[in-house]
Amino acid sequence: MLKLYPAKMPFFVPFIFPSLTYAKPDSNTKIYLTFDDGPHPEITPWILMVLKKYHIKANFFCTGANIQAYPHIVKEIIAQGHQIGNHTFSHVDAWRTSHKKYIHEISETDRLLQTAGISSKLFRPPYGRLTPGLIKKIQSLNKEIEIVMWSILMGDFSRFFVPDYAISYLSHHIKAGDILVFHDNAHSFPRLKQVLEPVINTLLAKGYQFATL
Ligand SMILES: [Zn+2]
Repeated sequence: MLKLYPAKMPFFVPFIFPSLTYAKPDSNTKIYLTFDDGPHPEITPWILMVLKKYHIKANFFCTGANIQAYPHIVKEIIAQGHQIGNHTFSHVDAWRTSHKKYIHEISETDRLLQTAGISSKLFRPPYGRLTPGLIKKIQSLNKEIEIVMWSILMGDFSRFFVPDYAISYLSHHIKAGDILVFHDNAHSFPRLKQVLEPVINTLLAKGYQFATL
């Protein structure tokens, strides 16, 4: 069995891009669940239902296109006390997009959030890709902006994802302040569906709490 996922953020990345958030190490007993790429009309309500069942809060990094398509789900995420962050408008790759277009994608998504009455300072780049020049440009848009990466990539998008291994990996490697990435999209759902509740149960049993960023 190829054990590619879950995968920790390589230790050297925070040294290269120190102004980004990878974890919240002073968080005591908190773990941060994040769901990227939604909202999705069927999957997001399922995630919300699971979170509600356990009375826990999480973070959703949404694309502008999906915010525009499913505004009622965005409202529901907020109404249930979760956090929303910006994930560009059309899930663009920073390594293949001009700075001008990339910044426009962020601003347009921010505008949609503001129209919905949501002010969010959180941004996560699709594919975790950025460049030093782009980081500066994003940070100059708004001094308060927090670029959130992750400490553990669950790998729910991968055909090498094995639920039992993912759970046992987390029980051995999780630590307070870890930021976990899941995906709120149709491609990842078959794997997310198998693993979300077991992950929550495992971490609750270890005494962790779940929080918004
Ligand atoms: Zn994404």
